[in-house]
Amino acid sequence: MLYYFDNAASTKVFKEAAQAALKVMTCYFANASSIHGFGLKSEKILNSCRDVIAKCLKCSSDEVIFTSGATESINLAIIGAAKKEKKRKKIITSSVEHSSTKNCLKHLKEKGYFVCEVAARNGRFFAEDFLKLVDDDCFLVSVMHVNNENGLILPVEEIAKKVKQKNSNVLVHVDAAQSFLKLPINLENIDCLSFSGHKFNAPKGVGCLIKKTNVKISPIFFGGGQEFGLRPGTQATALIAALDVAINKNLEHMENNSGHYLKLKDVLIDRLKNNSNISYNFNECCAAYIVNVSVRGIRSQVLLQFLEKEGFIVSSGAACSKNKKNVVLQNLGYSEDVANSAIRISFSKENDEKSVCLLAENILLAEKTLIKKTNPKN
Ligand code: PLP
Repeated sequence: MLYYFDNAASTKVFKEAAQAALKVMTCYFANASSIHGFGLKSEKILNSCRDVIAKCLKCSSDEVIFTSGATESINLAIIGAAKKEKKRKKIITSSVEHSSTKNCLKHLKEKGYFVCEVAARNGRFFAEDFLKLVDDDCFLVSVMHVNNENGLILPVEEIAKKVKQKNSNVLVHVDAAQSFLKLPINLENIDCLSFSGHKFNAPKGVGCLIKKTNVKISPIFFGGGQEFGLRPGTQATALIAALDVAINKNLEHMENNSGHYLKLKDVLIDRLKNNSNISYNFNECCAAYIVNVSVRGIRSQVLLQFLEKEGFIVSSGAACSKNKKNVVLQNLGYSEDVANSAIRISFSKENDEKSVCLLAENILLAEKTLIKKTNPKN
């Protein structure tokens, strides 16, 4: 039996979404830009998904740009905004962004842009800390909605509102890879938003950048005129059909899911709470579907391997920061020791209370077994 608790890294594709993709691949496989009737059928697939996303985010369908996923969307928003900007050089971000944002900004820094990182205070972020940095040289604020390591929710709507009040010419981009379809978001003051399908049971290789029509950015790839001239290349109609199904299915269960995640987090914490070697790397501003804990004295990798042998798949942090030090947790105020022992447990609708209890039992068993092994005197 395999218990999968690494849903923040990726999720299982819904059967119905996979079936939709297969149908498009084998029956409606024409190029969506072809002007024959068969091509128009493919275009309809794109439009249907665009409409679903637009309805869900209360934006317009021509503000939905299909990409290969959040990394590409983030690159398009950030690099595209920088390319469009002629004079201003300042970008504001948080100190706990995913590497897709961090490395985009590192690239721009090397090109002479000035990147200001807002630090966490007491494990959270405050809108006024972003606001303080906004001046006439600032053209972009890029910030994540939910942190991928410990589920911290950043006050993105408040940040966007305050930034816009101070300087309406600043573009605000939100990385919603860990929040889309899990937490509601109001795009009123947000110009661009990125997400990936595979975080919510659609296939890997498809995602979106939402970009308000009044906001101008430059393309970063060159080719045909697809996706309003911003993301050239033949659209992945099969993946987009699957994305459409996955979004609709998530929308049906969004409210129930949040209650479900809260219950699972409570059960997990309740089962672990009497062990003084276990610390909790989250606070009341964190979402329920990502739970980060450390077992003092056991390195993340060792605990992860122990759990995997017992059939439990968890993570030691962001999948794409494999073998790198966990600086994000340290930037959130946790010690190096805690960060080195951290495991991330991330839920899906498929996880149930029973499997969470079993996971907790096995974390406690690991604590007993592994600490003894490394510390035989105990
Ligand atoms: N942003 C956040 C917060 C993420 O967690 C991830 C993926 O883990 C990404 C961006 C990048 O998403 P993808 O790898 O699907 O492009």
